[in-house]
Amino acid sequence: MEANVLLFKCTKSKRAYGVRIQKMRDGDWYRTWAFKLNESSARREGYDRSVIKGNLYATEEYPGCPYCGCQGFVMCGHCQKIACWDGESSYTCPWCGTKSNISTAEDMFTVTANGD
Ligand SMILES: [Zn+2]
Ligand SMILES: [Zn+2]
Repeated sequence: MEANVLLFKCTKSKRAYGVRIQKMRDGDWYRTWAFKLNESSARREGYDRSVIKGNLYATEEYPGCPYCGCQGFVMCGHCQKIACWDGESSYTCPWCGTKSNISTAEDMFTVTANGD
């Protein structure tokens, strides 16, 4: 089974975390686990360069963001990085500081990753 780790950031605490993902038989990716990590070790492991294609669902075991607990995520339309998202209609990207409207970021999901 193919597995990978994506680098996420918590929108509220602005701290990095890793999300373990697995590719299932149907070709979609599933988030299985989330764990705190620091950004420099994530870069050393290459987590910040992981790219996936396809949908990105959460399994029932997926614990959510290790800092704020939310299950959702959003990909920034400006820097293309991923952050946790609690479902509010607008957010400020913890990576680049861009204020985004989620309705404009939704298009990104169909290209590289998909929310739930
Ligand atoms: Zn969070
Ligand atoms: Zn951004």
